[in-house]
Amino acid sequence: MLIDISDIISSENKERTLEVSVGLTSFESRLGKFPIIQKSPMELQIVNRENKSLLIHGKADLGVMIPCSRCLKEVATDLHVPIDKELTIEASEVRGEEPEDTVFLEGTCLDTDRLLYGEILMNWPMKVLCSKDCRGICRVCGADLNAGDCGCQRTELDPRMASIQDIFNKFKEV
Ligand SMILES: [Zn+2]
Ligand SMILES: [Zn+2]
Repeated sequence: MLIDISDIISSENKERTLEVSVGLTSFESRLGKFPIIQKSPMELQIVNRENKSLLIHGKADLGVMIPCSRCLKEVATDLHVPIDKELTIEASEVRGEEPEDTVFLEGTCLDTDRLLYGEILMNWPMKVLCSKDCRGICRVCGADLNAGDCGCQRTELDPRMASIQDIFNKFKEV
């Protein structure tokens, strides 16, 4: 959603609290496409601090389907995404510290979905498990070991070993 914040940019110490609906229906990154199954409006507080900077504070609560790191079963995962940005005001123009910051600014309009996208990326969970003792999939035949043993000969059956396997998988992605 595009929100015109020119009134905040142009008046010193102005503060505005907004409730903005989330337009994203899925989250896409190089890791894949993840459907957003639940969302509540984002709360954003925008403050003009002494005409020098613009502070954006807020949060978003989302439910996202993310595959289990071990067995790949989709898990409805709650993401609580804090939003914290400080932008610089120069001659009534707003600038971010990082190049990505300009992506969610269009003139004096704030693109709240792009802002949220960047914050989701920053807060993406390292690991999602369907249950903490998920047994993962068989490395030999690919069967879901939570459904029972497939009979393949494997050296590791221990959930502690499964977490070591996660680390190996992580290296493979790089
Ligand atoms: Zn699992
Ligand atoms: Zn097997």
